[in-house]
Amino acid sequence: MNDIEKRVAELNKLLHEYEHAYYVLDKPLVPDAVYDQLLHELIALEKENPSLIYPDSPTTRVGGTAVDGFKKVTHRFPMLSLSNAFGEEDLRDFDRKIRQAIGDNFSYVCELKIDGLAISLKYENGVFVQGATRGDGTVGEDITANLKTIRAIPLRLKEPVTIEVRGEAYMPKKSFETLNQKREENGEETFANPRNAAAGSLRQLDPKIAASRNLSTFIYAIGGDGEAYGIDSHAEMLDYLETLGFPSNKERQLCATIDDVLTFISKWTENRQNLPYEIDGIVVKVNRYAHQDELGFTAKSPRWAIAYKFPAEEVVTKILDIELTVGRTGVITPTAILEPVLVAGSIVGRASLHNEDLIREKDIRIGDTVIVHKAGDIIPEVVGVILEQRPEDAVPFEMPTHCIACESELVRIEGEVALRCVNPTCPAQIAEGIKHFVSRNAMNIDGLGEKVVEQLLRENYIKDVSDLYHLQVEQLVKLERMGEKSATNLVNAIERSKENSMERLLFGLGIRHVGEKAAKILTEQFETIDSLMEATEEQLTAIFEIGEKMADSVVTYFQQDEVKELITRLKDVGVNMTYKGKKVQVEIGENPFAGKTIVLTGKLSQLTRNEAKAKIEELGGTVTGSVSKKTDLVIAGEDAGSKLTKAQELGIEVWDENRLVEQLQ
Ligand code: NAD
Repeated sequence: MNDIEKRVAELNKLLHEYEHAYYVLDKPLVPDAVYDQLLHELIALEKENPSLIYPDSPTTRVGGTAVDGFKKVTHRFPMLSLSNAFGEEDLRDFDRKIRQAIGDNFSYVCELKIDGLAISLKYENGVFVQGATRGDGTVGEDITANLKTIRAIPLRLKEPVTIEVRGEAYMPKKSFETLNQKREENGEETFANPRNAAAGSLRQLDPKIAASRNLSTFIYAIGGDGEAYGIDSHAEMLDYLETLGFPSNKERQLCATIDDVLTFISKWTENRQNLPYEIDGIVVKVNRYAHQDELGFTAKSPRWAIAYKFPAEEVVTKILDIELTVGRTGVITPTAILEPVLVAGSIVGRASLHNEDLIREKDIRIGDTVIVHKAGDIIPEVVGVILEQRPEDAVPFEMPTHCIACESELVRIEGEVALRCVNPTCPAQIAEGIKHFVSRNAMNIDGLGEKVVEQLLRENYIKDVSDLYHLQVEQLVKLERMGEKSATNLVNAIERSKENSMERLLFGLGIRHVGEKAAKILTEQFETIDSLMEATEEQLTAIFEIGEKMADSVVTYFQQDEVKELITRLKDVGVNMTYKGKKVQVEIGENPFAGKTIVLTGKLSQLTRNEAKAKIEELGGTVTGSVSKKTDLVIAGEDAGSKLTKAQELGIEVWDENRLVEQLQ
């Protein structure tokens, strides 16, 4: 077997396994996006190597199978799946093929893709007689008794027609949360998502259980020939179904062009969280039956419809390497180097693995195929390893025993998970310390990026942060990619930083446990470095926000001779060591920010986030990072996401940027 044959075999095996877990056991082994990604890999491989298409390949058949325990139902008309689109390009491709086949004179109907399970309902003379699952598309399970418990399914229609309809049974988000909460309290296994919970509920042999699960349904098709009912388009059919008394989803739209379809998609990509049920995409169908007939079907799905899937929040990729870095405080952090992959809208190539414990717990190895997502929608994180895809020669990852920068022995401090280099002269720590000192929220020296700092150290121009203040333009121009102008700007920026108020310096020193906020509080209280250096632990802990750990860290820090010498050197070059801010309580008059807890979210265009933050704080407001019941006000810039939604849910006042700027003035 060559590599491609091996991979095709492996993908067939994996996908069958995942399908069984998902469709039959209602207990998925991996997130949907991971299944979709592997299925797509197989589709691509089969397209290039048609001789490798297995007769039972997951690309050629509709997912599930009918399980024992229920009577089997053979569908008069097969219940098919839909082909998928994962982005604009796929949709434009779909549109192009349709135009080639039927010309330009047609329209689409866009519908929400309800994340539930497909059902078929049969009515004879207006009376509900049989309900079934899709099964493998040909044979499903008779779940009539369970479906009768769903209130949204009419048991008698408004007209005495004989008809088969298709739709989606789903579990509303609220019912799902309540169900999982109860299951957790009872020590039962929870469901992975509302879709599996709905499927699991309808597969219960006792209808009382299904009845207790608060399921609902939307009907979106007639099984078989719609024209027999005097209908000639999908949109008309949905209206007809409503007149018969079926629940149809109202959020549908007729679209004349693929651009209108894309607009509909963006609207629902943004608004889907506000729906009371889960949707996993948008279904796009050619409206007229005559056009649908012309386009026809493949073995698995109609050619006149496509399911657009929302961007994957979880994807699979490979761990190419695990890189180690030494942080400012000596902590050794492992980072996974990933085969670059698109996650929730951006390409991700690295993910922090945090510490040794995490690597062990998840048993992450170089060469592993892993699931990656973005925590809090921003930070890439490895969720877990797909063990079935582990290469045979993958070995458990071992952290080093010695620092990768200075080779001194690493220690694990009791009570901490981190492995640390405790050598105060470790060059990696010094470099990180300097980068922190010059960073935006510390001394804010523009033009001193990581690369420049590393060069300055390499050239021996600096040994610690005080040396920055001796740098000359003539020296700097010798660095790579540093012209006369940038060098002059840099020297000026360094010079300007001498005037910073003390809290920036204090934060920049990088004392353990002293973050930006603590630096500000300490500065407001002590006003000069000299008085802070003399402060005792008692004096420090007497300040409301300062705990013992921080107090101890501050005192220990300033007791060190090297630190005292560094402060003297900084004083000698003229770095300001005093508080320049105003005492907030005294200065501020009445204003809409004083005493309020405020969250900034989204993109601001008239001022930077840091500027907005500084101004709000000057006026006595506190800026925090996350929205909670304690938040008084949310400022939402462009493209604000989950924080804005949360604020709306909690009924918190929201301003746009213009209003913020107006009020700041
Ligand atoms: P699909 O979900 O991609 O699309 C077809 C289905 O969409 C239809 O059968 C129907 O049930 C549903 N649907 C919802 N709203 C609709 C509407 N308005 N009009 C028409 N159909 C609508 O295809 P599928 O064959 O059901 O299976 C694939 C899905 O199952 C994917 O989401 C896949 O990720 C998931 N899956 C996951 C795993 C796993 O291991 N996590 C395994 C197998 C399948």
